[in-house]
Amino acid sequence: MRNFKIYLFSILSLITILVIPFTIHAAENKIIYNLDLTFNKEVHSIKGTEIVKYTNHSLLPIDTIYFHLNPNAFRNTKSKLYQRYENLLDEPAYLNIHSVKINGENADFHGDKTVSMAVILPKTLYPSDSITIYTEFTTKIPRGKHFFCPSYSKGAYQLIFFYPKVEHFYNCGWKPELYKTVADPFGVPSSYKVSLTLPNEFKAVGSLILNSTTQLPNNFVQLNYSGQYLQEIGFSISSNYKISHLKLNNTTITLLTKDNKHNYKIQEQNVKEVVSDIINYYSDYFLPFQSSHLSIVSGNIPGGFATANFIILNSKIYRGIKNIDYQSIQVLSHEIAHQYFGFLVNANESYETWLNEGFANYAASKYLTNRYPLLREKHNYPVTNFTKQTNKLFNLLFLSMEQEQIGQPVYTPNRTTDFSILSDQTKYFKGQKVLEMMEYILGDSLFKSVINEYIKRQKFHITTTEDFFRIAEEVSSHDFSGFYKTWVESSSIPDLKILKVKKMKDIAPDQHITEIVITDEPKCHLPVEINAIDEIGDTLTKSGIWLSDKPDTISFHSSTSIKKISLDPRKKIWEFNRRNNHYPQKILFKFLIDAPRIDAYQIFYYPTFDFNRTDITRIGLKLRGRYWINMRPFFPAQSLDEWYASINYGIKTKTLGYDFSYSTSLLSMLFKPRVSLRARNYFGLFESKISSEIYIGEIKYPIIHQMQGYKKLIFGAQYENVRTSKFLNESNWQKGKLFYPFLDFINFHNWGSYRHTLRIKANFGIKSLYTDYAYQKYSIDGQLKFRISKRPWIYQRLFFGKSSGNVPAQQNFYFFGKNIFENLTFESYRLVKGAGDMRGYGGRSLKGKNIITTNTEIRWNLAGTGEATFDFILFYDTGVIPSNLTKITWNQLKHDAGIGLEFNAFEAIMIGMHFPIWVSHPEEGKNPIAFRWVFSSWLNL
Ligand SMILES: [Zn+2]
Repeated sequence: MRNFKIYLFSILSLITILVIPFTIHAAENKIIYNLDLTFNKEVHSIKGTEIVKYTNHSLLPIDTIYFHLNPNAFRNTKSKLYQRYENLLDEPAYLNIHSVKINGENADFHGDKTVSMAVILPKTLYPSDSITIYTEFTTKIPRGKHFFCPSYSKGAYQLIFFYPKVEHFYNCGWKPELYKTVADPFGVPSSYKVSLTLPNEFKAVGSLILNSTTQLPNNFVQLNYSGQYLQEIGFSISSNYKISHLKLNNTTITLLTKDNKHNYKIQEQNVKEVVSDIINYYSDYFLPFQSSHLSIVSGNIPGGFATANFIILNSKIYRGIKNIDYQSIQVLSHEIAHQYFGFLVNANESYETWLNEGFANYAASKYLTNRYPLLREKHNYPVTNFTKQTNKLFNLLFLSMEQEQIGQPVYTPNRTTDFSILSDQTKYFKGQKVLEMMEYILGDSLFKSVINEYIKRQKFHITTTEDFFRIAEEVSSHDFSGFYKTWVESSSIPDLKILKVKKMKDIAPDQHITEIVITDEPKCHLPVEINAIDEIGDTLTKSGIWLSDKPDTISFHSSTSIKKISLDPRKKIWEFNRRNNHYPQKILFKFLIDAPRIDAYQIFYYPTFDFNRTDITRIGLKLRGRYWINMRPFFPAQSLDEWYASINYGIKTKTLGYDFSYSTSLLSMLFKPRVSLRARNYFGLFESKISSEIYIGEIKYPIIHQMQGYKKLIFGAQYENVRTSKFLNESNWQKGKLFYPFLDFINFHNWGSYRHTLRIKANFGIKSLYTDYAYQKYSIDGQLKFRISKRPWIYQRLFFGKSSGNVPAQQNFYFFGKNIFENLTFESYRLVKGAGDMRGYGGRSLKGKNIITTNTEIRWNLAGTGEATFDFILFYDTGVIPSNLTKITWNQLKHDAGIGLEFNAFEAIMIGMHFPIWVSHPEEGKNPIAFRWVFSSWLNL
């Protein structure tokens, strides 16, 4: 139901949410709601009465009726649901029930402080009997911008999930255990009559049609609405917004947006044109748009939200539409598509949400592909290279999912597990891909007939995946059983590859035969296309090849020799590894950095600058080769094959140096170990490393998931030549060989307002014939962060380290980072995290075998979304490097304090500037209070 899109580069994260309260949209209204609502702007609440006429449409007698009181999910700031969407509400919400009456008598009810209230019926309600339930309630609208709760900000109120709503009655009865979730996913077609009383200056739009307006005394107005066959309703109320209308065929579109006087009219015209264009496109491509009424509102909730006949778009997205922005139009076209897929044809949200989200994404992508360039042109926004690049990046971000997550089956009948384990990626993007691949098999027009037939037949019905495939097979006469197994039920992703290329020459002059052996594993059940380009540049194409169970041989006859071959050149098949689709393998050279390509080796070249005391600067050139596997370029840890080679020159020492590295993930092995090799030589000192990392247990990437946490266990071994301690400002050189196995355990959790990280590290230096150091080294790093209120956080860190034996200088514990101002490539800045953070002692390389440091911070969140923050920091550090841990005296303790600024994004990138103004033990001749600064950063990709 939610759809997370992240712009790494614009900090702002954009979240599209769709909540489909879904349904049996049968020919009759199953429930009749009559709501009388009064909005109170002083206390931000809705006081209301509700009359529900409920008819027992089941075959079972009913003694209890359950109501969903959604705001109560956010009643308690300690609740997981409240904390899970930590930035979305500033205060709790509630829906209080004052009385429940049936036939004029007070009825028993309980659970009214929870999300699901049970109303006990005075007498059994038999099939096809009706009952009328009268409820008095107050809904507190909290300050915030939530997509699962009514909320307000900047004078705009979003009324969603705000009234007592009858829970879904299943064939087998009520399911109270299912009702505990937020935003009741089930709805049945219902008739609504709503009267809404507002202060005069407020305007309202929503899912319903406005029938009449009555002026009341004391500057109040009563708006009377009604609507039929709706699964859910929502309203937006605001005082400083402006309403405009647009009539399109049989649909009235109502827009509600902030009135920024200057070019309101012109900009609103653009929105109208885009909305019309989308609806016309869908009406033409699918069926004519069915609703007589649709409201689109510029609001404050992140991303986009849709319910029946009502769409809320974040004001940034709304503005984006005015400027014909790709991303914004994607969100809008996705949400409009839900009026077909979700509110006209309804898939069972619990099991088959991919039919809603996959179709909405499919429709939006279809629209953008066909109309976006024209739209830009028409509105005089040329499709520049920049636009193309950002669109590319945007699409790439969409596709950059974890293989494990997208590898889920989109639908498994009789699944025993909770549907919520289905990742958003699976629902949205695998769903979209499955549909696009079906379109590729059948061709555009036949697949269009399939969709049209699907909408026609399933309109107002609960739809299943089986229904959809049955209709697809009937309409197309294509057997989808193999396809269904691979793409719907299975979790593995096929890999299509060129196994061998045989060129046969000298058959006859000007006669070349090229045999290409290709295979797919597991079977993709899709027709394959293959291109061959000959010496003179002619392209030969074979398409519609259905592969057998064994490797297949495709032959090309050409007059000149074949130079290039590419399998699935139009990228129609979604597969695991696209690099092996090319002959010869593609290599791209790029300066600095470029968007990842999934079908080629990318080699980047860029200058390097390393700073250290010995050399001042080393300048060099680096080549970095990268291969992104399986459309998940932003998560290299498990699948990236990477190497780099660099040479550099030290300005002061006049020495040449080099640095080589190669790392790869052995994907076919258990636990997919990552193996890295590194060799470098700076200042005439050689250093080499071999290490291997294995990830065990749950790894959840905070970028994509709503940050629940992960555990990692990394272990391996390193072998290196210890570098000289001259870099650490000492006169003696230290040389030697070092071998140490290591263990590293990391546990990170984010509970919203409370976060913790625990990291335990152990190194064991082994002395043998070839190595010189025998030692043990352990460290425990605990970090805790919790929110005091909206902006301020308290951060506490405790770092403890202990080592014994013959510890080489660079394996010591440092008061600030590791060699922070020494030996500094940009890379080694990353090492700052993980050792003592005594910011005031940065330049001094204070080190020892034991260390205890604590950092206490108050962090004031200056700006930020859920994923990126910019903090002002007040810090106090204290620490000690004792020779004996049991005999620490007060005098040994060192302190510093100061202020800082820090930017954090996605728990993956940190850039900080800290000013330790006060230092308890300054360098000789220096004042304890002075201007000092420390720069730090780390990357956690
Ligand atoms: Zn959606």
